[in-house]
Amino acid sequence: MRIGFGFDLHRIRRSPKGGVLIVAGVKISAPYKVEAHSDGDLVFHALSDAISSAMGGPDIGEKFPPNEAKTLNMDSKKILEWAMKLAGQKFSLVNSVSLVIAAEEPKLTPFRKRIQEALAVVLKIPTDRVGISFKTFEGLPISNEAIACWATCLLEEK
Ligand code: MG
Repeated sequence: MRIGFGFDLHRIRRSPKGGVLIVAGVKISAPYKVEAHSDGDLVFHALSDAISSAMGGPDIGEKFPPNEAKTLNMDSKKILEWAMKLAGQKFSLVNSVSLVIAAEEPKLTPFRKRIQEALAVVLKIPTDRVGISFKTFEGLPISNEAIACWATCLLEEK
């Protein structure tokens, strides 16, 4: 078995028009825009780093460099699929994942099931192997500046 750990953070910019927060491919209205070169899907980013890390692979910034045309606005599901392929090549499967998502708003709890289901499909595991905790920054200044995700994964032999 192998364990992996990943982290991602994106700056946010409050906007009167608001924006769209993408969490594991689930699009959620937010009172801010997420600053990102790709689609800014912080869950896919943190989880991809966790899986690659478990396999001794590169971090996603090395594999999918920001500021390159090919990664501009890219669907980050492709990054997770790359990490899954890397794990598969070395004879491992994802057993379970556990995430912490920190965002002051919007409230993400109502989206838990959809996010779990979206991840379960990509990871090819049951939804009860996708754990998610939603946290805030307790109103600290960073609340208005960023969203973040921590991810762990457990990989097992095929
Ligand atoms: Mg990112």
